Amino acid sequence: MTNIDSIKTVAVLGAGTMGNGIAHVFAREGFKVILRDVEQRFLERAVETIGKNLDREIKKGKLAESEKGIVVKRVQPVTEMSAIAAADFVVEAVPEKIEIKRAVLMEADGILRPEVILASNTSSISMTTLAALTKRPDRFVGMHFMNPVPVMALVEVIRALQTSDATFEATMKLAEKLEKRPVAVNDAPGFVSNRVLMPLINEAAYCVMEGVATAEAVDAVMKTGMNHPMGPLELADFIGLDVCVDIMHVLHEGLGDPKYRACPLLKKYVAAGWLGRKSGRGFHNYSQ
Ligand code: NAD
Repeated sequence: MTNIDSIKTVAVLGAGTMGNGIAHVFAREGFKVILRDVEQRFLERAVETIGKNLDREIKKGKLAESEKGIVVKRVQPVTEMSAIAAADFVVEAVPEKIEIKRAVLMEADGILRPEVILASNTSSISMTTLAALTKRPDRFVGMHFMNPVPVMALVEVIRALQTSDATFEATMKLAEKLEKRPVAVNDAPGFVSNRVLMPLINEAAYCVMEGVATAEAVDAVMKTGMNHPMGPLELADFIGLDVCVDIMHVLHEGLGDPKYRACPLLKKYVAAGWLGRKSGRGFHNYSQ
């Protein structure tokens, strides 16, 4: 079994929304992090975001001010894939496109030492399919962090069909070391998080489409009646309505049940470019 105490250097592939958060939590726990993206400007943006998020932790009293520089210094931004050769563990967080994941995973697989575990943060692609792209399918695992990574405790640790017990256990322990709450899940469309969350969001969208209630009213019911911290449509806007539709398609295709068909109103909003917070408008308006 991989001795997780021997893991000192972690490579994170992709420095976007999730990649910078994953780099942040590993660096905070004392790991050296090789953060790889395709262009310098993406790396600069990621390092800036890590700095801002560390400032938030300082403000909340979760991190000493003197620690910030030390944590940031542990992150080594790189554009060259060859730099990940030094990694003892890898998390992939490149865009949710199978062609991109295939190219990145196959290249990384050829560079890493044979014993190194390769984890993917994919939210919807089959871990079993991704594992089969590599020559280390037994050392392949899902590590599904939640956004924003420094704040959210959950990590779904997903077993591909080929994942060995040793890989799975080492990844569970590593997530605990990051002070996260790992939950064991088997590979299936949407895992648990999106299998349960996305149909809720989809049904909320149907309520609006069918005139059962306004978006504000649907969110109010779920927040005040069910104690959800965010309403499902607020949350959909935060995630991105395009992402929600894509995940519904994955559930529909993967499980073959019509109950998973994406709500036509969600699809219409996406067609209009109303993607949620990132475009300034979704179920709610963010132009102010
Ligand atoms: P993102 O678009 O914000 O970031 C992806 C980054 O990968 C970009 O900076 C891009 O330049 C970079 N990239 C592209 N090609 C690359 C390559 N060949 N090598 C290295 N980097 C490359 O995407 P994201 O939201 O951070 O999502 C990343 C992964 O995490 C996806 O699989 C997504 O499904 C998953 N995920 C996202 C969320 C979320 O809420 N955003 C939550 C859980 C999981």
